[in-house]
Amino acid sequence: MKSVTVIGMGPMGQAMAGAYLDKGYEVTVWNRTPARADELVVRGAARAGSVEAALIASDLVVLSLIDHDAVDAVLAQAPETALAGRVFVNLTSDTPDRMRATAAWLAERGAVQLAGGVQVPPPGIGTPEAMTYYSGPEEVIESRRADLEVLTGVHYLGADQGLAPLYYQIGIDMFWTALAGYLHGQAVAEANGISADEFLPHAVRTLDLRYFLEFYAPRITAGHHEGDVDRISMGVASVEHVVRTAEAAGVDGSLPAAVLELFRRGVAAGHGQRSLTSLVEVLKA
Ligand code: NDP
Repeated sequence: MKSVTVIGMGPMGQAMAGAYLDKGYEVTVWNRTPARADELVVRGAARAGSVEAALIASDLVVLSLIDHDAVDAVLAQAPETALAGRVFVNLTSDTPDRMRATAAWLAERGAVQLAGGVQVPPPGIGTPEAMTYYSGPEEVIESRRADLEVLTGVHYLGADQGLAPLYYQIGIDMFWTALAGYLHGQAVAEANGISADEFLPHAVRTLDLRYFLEFYAPRITAGHHEGDVDRISMGVASVEHVVRTAEAAGVDGSLPAAVLELFRRGVAAGHGQRSLTSLVEVLKA
């Protein structure tokens, strides 16, 4: 029977352990707070009494912890003999440098890391449309592909362990700021008596940025920031209206005010008559 160990029983680790149980794997779980594994134990998972026992139970170990400080804290509890020879599928979010450092630390102890960045929330685990970025040694990814695909599809980026977390962090950078924008706009809506359900179709249409992304990406790639369709000076005036509308409704305007500040920096840098895309250059500088 195939076996896997899952370390970390947050919502993500629980969903992953559940997906392996559904596929008939022998699943061992470990969590700092043991009770979080109770449901999985009822479903057939084995609860390890120590990190060492969890590692010894399988040569494939999924790490789903809050960050790499937690990864370090957990792995330090095991003797080096329990690390050697194992494949660690590290789906823990952190910076590319931390992911590279964990890979090097494991390699020094005879273990291999596959770095991953999961692209779906826990309910998406085990569904066909789900995808995870992976980086690390390609031959190990390929030899473990069937095990990885129990969780999500595999999008392999290359040997550099930092690539998967880099793509993950870029995406989540876009995601968090867009989601914060949605929440801010909805706060203004609520303050004006418009419910989230009522505004939903408008929010969906507004946040479907595909047209803009496909229009802007080739221009950014080409360094083409002419103000033929949009100008930062227009953006400044527009965001000023957004801030004033929010504040008039008694809503904290600090989020759009931060956007306004960025746009003003673009104008101060001499880009007022150029496209908003020139902010990419302002931000890099
Ligand atoms: P949680 O924050 O809920 O789970 C964190 C896990 O880390 C828990 O098992 C917790 O243990 C453990 N932990 C935290 N600190 C320590 C420590 N010092 N020592 C030992 N264990 C520790 O996260 P999720 O399950 O939601 O996510 C797991 C990973 O997946 C994260 O890196 C997250 O960024 C990533 N991710 C999550 C998504 C989501 O939608 N949830 C989507 C995509 C990626 P304890 O139970 O004892 O507190």
